[in-house]
Amino acid sequence: MKTNSHEVALAVDVDGVLLDLMISYCELFNERYDTNYTKNDVISWEFFLDWNISEEKAFQIFYELYENSKDIPVIDKAVKVYLEDIYKNKIFKPDIVSARKNEYKKPLVDALKLNGIIQGIHYEKLILVDNKPYNKKINFSYDIYIDDNPYLALSIKDYPEKVLLLYNQPWNRSIEDSAIKNVIRVYSWKDVYHYILNFI
Ligand SMILES: [Mg+2]
Repeated sequence: MKTNSHEVALAVDVDGVLLDLMISYCELFNERYDTNYTKNDVISWEFFLDWNISEEKAFQIFYELYENSKDIPVIDKAVKVYLEDIYKNKIFKPDIVSARKNEYKKPLVDALKLNGIIQGIHYEKLILVDNKPYNKKINFSYDIYIDDNPYLALSIKDYPEKVLLLYNQPWNRSIEDSAIKNVIRVYSWKDVYHYILNFI
């Protein structure tokens, strides 16, 4: 745990944490493959294996959505209020850290802006990382991660100085968070906010 005199670095994920990507994903998938999936049917990180399409085809849909990020619903309309308040508190330095390719950076910045999330007010830097290995973000020097990725939850066990606020989603419910000391399941941005303020 850090003291007040240090900055606490936060890694705020985008998909499944700021933007509700899988709602849009299921809509586009259903349109394309004449299926009837909803977000609640996405019960694993590699859901496409169960849905009988190749990873390549599954990712084509992700890329189309990334290009049109403005159309993806925000997870919580109040997220900008919480993030601004966290950033205003000089102890915390939130970066937005997303596993998207650089070519989708502009649509992402625009989508964040559209939802009132602005660099310098709500976050410090926007960092893009590879989506593989799935636990890639663990190698970055963040103290607190706000993420929905089950692989990050499994990896963080080996980094007891870090904390993961695991944003509850259907694809991470199999993670037994109560058995991992430094993983705390959060159900809303209100939960995130309260945890972070209590961290001091
Ligand atoms: Mg995510």
